[in-house]
Amino acid sequence: MNPKVTGPPLFSVFSSIHDALHSTAFTIAVDVVLSLAVLFWLSIAFWVFKDARRRMEHPVFVGAATVVGLVPLVGPPVYLLFRPSETLEDLHARDVELHALEQQLTHGRSTCPVCSSAIEPGYLVCPVCTTRLRQACSTCEAPLKPLWQVCPYCAGAVEPLQEDLDAALTGELQDVLQDGLAPSAPLHEARAADG
Ligand SMILES: [Zn+2]
Ligand SMILES: [Zn+2]
Repeated sequence: MNPKVTGPPLFSVFSSIHDALHSTAFTIAVDVVLSLAVLFWLSIAFWVFKDARRRMEHPVFVGAATVVGLVPLVGPPVYLLFRPSETLEDLHARDVELHALEQQLTHGRSTCPVCSSAIEPGYLVCPVCTTRLRQACSTCEAPLKPLWQVCPYCAGAVEPLQEDLDAALTGELQDVLQDGLAPSAPLHEARAADG
């Protein structure tokens, strides 16, 4: 007489599903999957944080990138799309390389040490500020570099200009002193001989 005669079997199906859902094994399985998902999510976010720190200098940007990385599924791909293409290490290496190249270029194109105007390798004097740049070889007149000890063009000996000047001045002074003393010495000796 009761129309809901199919009630008990349907209920038993539901109750068996309900039992299965609440069985210990299922609960453990769900826990394991959830734990793995959380672990994966946190690992990805941590990777985003580490990667951002390698590419961004400002802590605020690193923090923002980490927050984006924490957004499940969507965050990490978005971060990958917008992250700086170069790491700070790459940037630093490129800066050093550029600096070295710049220096090489500056060295290749010689400049006057006083006024920094461009000078040719053959110049003896800076045409702008008249600074003495190089000494000319006394034999063949070739422009010599300051460190050269011998002229590479004629094999003539090279003496530093400053030392030459000092030697010349000292020699002249000695000559003057000797000339001044020379007449007095015999006079002194003569007086000593007399006395
Ligand atoms: Zn100059
Ligand atoms: Zn020479």
